[in-house]
Amino acid sequence: MDSGLSDFHPLHIFKSLKIKPKKSWGQSFLQNLSLLDQPLSFLGLKPGGRVLEIGAGIGNVTERIAPYGAKVLAIEIDRRFTPILTMIEKKYPNVQILYQDALSLTWDELWQGESYDLFGNVPYYITGPILEKILLKEKNWQKAALLLQEEVAERILSPPGSKSYSSLSVIAQFKARLSRGPRVPKGCFFPPPKVDSLFLFLERKATPDFYVSEENFFLRLVRGAFRERRKTLRNNLLRLFPSLSPDILNSIEESTGVSLSRRPETLSLKEYCLLENALFGAFYGKSL
Ligand code: SAH
Repeated sequence: MDSGLSDFHPLHIFKSLKIKPKKSWGQSFLQNLSLLDQPLSFLGLKPGGRVLEIGAGIGNVTERIAPYGAKVLAIEIDRRFTPILTMIEKKYPNVQILYQDALSLTWDELWQGESYDLFGNVPYYITGPILEKILLKEKNWQKAALLLQEEVAERILSPPGSKSYSSLSVIAQFKARLSRGPRVPKGCFFPPPKVDSLFLFLERKATPDFYVSEENFFLRLVRGAFRERRKTLRNNLLRLFPSLSPDILNSIEESTGVSLSRRPETLSLKEYCLLENALFGAFYGKSL
């Protein structure tokens, strides 16, 4: 590796700060920073742009992002990193650090309604809430490069019909165009985590590809449909909506062309949207 980077090796930084990485905050630092080239080129950062970094840590990634000239807002929960992060803030006027819990903030508000991109080597203990925040709560981000545990990233990327296709895959696809970034073996981190990681790239869809009557109803349907993967859609739907009569189920089958004898993991995003329209119509009168 480039000898200039060795001073920036996380181990040296921890030694000089006289602290140890905290497992409970998911602290695992990327050592091989050339792995960031592809994710950062995906984000396409440039002056005039904005990027939110989740978990700045020792600023190794922040310092790689800063020279692109976009405004960088980096959130970090652990104040022990203040000395090093302050140095980075001084060196790059476009960088600002917020010492807070990223989950307690509304990211859209931090940028006062302007659009922004996201970068995060996501602390594994809050992967679920962070994904939920990105997919369902924050609305103004455009692109996101997230480093996730490989298994989670693979689950999100899974196509219909595959074993790991889940409600999360459907919901993520509904909200964003997804693509696979580079794999990051555990040895690329200090300290090494238990599992390998994978970059997931997301581009938010300005409008959904397929119409749904009501987003919350769609989410409830998709989650409910997958409740028991080995059961048919019909059984999962009946458990979710016990008042559905055989007649209604038949008419839904007819109008959507989706057989309810199928298993939840075989339906495409489009088919879930069709199903949502038909069910919403059945419950609340004519679909909107
Ligand atoms: N960006 C660095 C650090 C990744 S480790 C790198 O990629 O090498 C994850 C970082 O997220 C740690 O610095 C940890 O302290 C921070 N973190 C954990 N939980 C957080 C939370 N709720 N809000 C903000 N930062 C958090």
